[in-house]
Amino acid sequence: MQKMKIEEKLVKTLIRQGGPSVFSWSEIYLNPYQGCYHNCVYCDGKSEHYHMHDDFGDRIFVKKNAPALFEKFLKNKSFQPVHEKEQSAIDEFFPSLKAIPNSKVLPKSIITIGGGVCDSYQQAEETVKITRKLLEIVYNYQFPLWILTKNDLVLRDIDLIKKINKETYACVNFTITLSDEKAQKIFEPRASTTSERFEAIRILRKEEIHSGVYCYPSLPFIGNTDKNIQEIYQRAKRVGAEFIYCDGLTLKPGRSKNEFMQTLRQYYPDLYPKYELLYSNNNKYGHLDQEQFEDLGLMRSLHRGYKFGYEMELDYAAKRFVPEGRLTVNLQLSELLRRIVYLKGSILYEARYEVNAFNNAAKLVENSGRDFGKLRGDEFADIPTNIQVKDVIKEFVLTGKSAYLKDLEKRTYDYLVDKYYTE
Ligand code: SF4
Repeated sequence: MQKMKIEEKLVKTLIRQGGPSVFSWSEIYLNPYQGCYHNCVYCDGKSEHYHMHDDFGDRIFVKKNAPALFEKFLKNKSFQPVHEKEQSAIDEFFPSLKAIPNSKVLPKSIITIGGGVCDSYQQAEETVKITRKLLEIVYNYQFPLWILTKNDLVLRDIDLIKKINKETYACVNFTITLSDEKAQKIFEPRASTTSERFEAIRILRKEEIHSGVYCYPSLPFIGNTDKNIQEIYQRAKRVGAEFIYCDGLTLKPGRSKNEFMQTLRQYYPDLYPKYELLYSNNNKYGHLDQEQFEDLGLMRSLHRGYKFGYEMELDYAAKRFVPEGRLTVNLQLSELLRRIVYLKGSILYEARYEVNAFNNAAKLVENSGRDFGKLRGDEFADIPTNIQVKDVIKEFVLTGKSAYLKDLEKRTYDYLVDKYYTE
């Protein structure tokens, strides 16, 4: 196995801000590493698109100034640390910095440490411990936390994660794509094994920390099979995972695709020609060719996963946590509308105008300063959307429930069973 090289660097930017979605309710992303020793064969991060170094899987850069940049970002937004010991001393010298009783609570967002194109709990973290430093800042500033990893090293920090979860919210998720560990070792050679990842979820759930599974990317013919996906859902259910997000493989042309195809030729030569056809379009985002996909009689893993999830009562997305300072009903409504968009747009393929109406309403509700929870009577008529969406919003605001979503989830399940599982 190639020896890992760890190098330090200073970066100018660290924080990426993004909109919430059923994939992740997080809105702030930061990663202390560049490069990932896990070296997964399908890793999207190796693509030239991200301007990473050539030896991405062996040379790991540590963004040494990540903790300083992170704190600076929070302070620029007027947040103050809550737990730092020295804080009380600072307050004595600068009384204006003390929290003002009943002052307006600043709106917070869920922060993701890692994910994206480098794993924040990869092997380098054992000694570098920079992810832990970032977690300490999350705790100090009382922000909610989101982690996505393939390494059970995250359990080392369970003490801190528990403290964050107690005060706000912590959700630690694992990517798990292959139940069969022989196949998993081929495609994710240096990550924790599938069993270790499931065991980590079991431990986290025992400590009442939120946790789910990202069955993503699910490889055509290898991971995207009834057997593999059903097993992952069953094992996830057994260890208490709260949700599974499932989706397929993208292969961006260039280094990412070339490396993947070489491995495929070595271990799955029979599948090589099929992948050549599927990804022959060289789509710049790595999306497969839809016509080839249909000719090969394939089913999207997202659809397969939804079916098994529905049968096992495993949610297809995490329940949204509402951070401090945000309008609770607005964010809950936005979650409801985005779930509707997901089902109608990604599974039922309903008309674009229908999906857009829900999508636009989700954005409107999310960004509105008006508290939708206080709407009553005729006020629902003022919402600039169509009657159907207004009715969905009204039902949720007045009852806290959505029969519309419940029916839609059932209708989505029936549609998939009819389409793929009925002779
Ligand atoms: S863990 Fe994620 S970032 Fe790291 S190599 Fe694997 S796919 Fe890439």
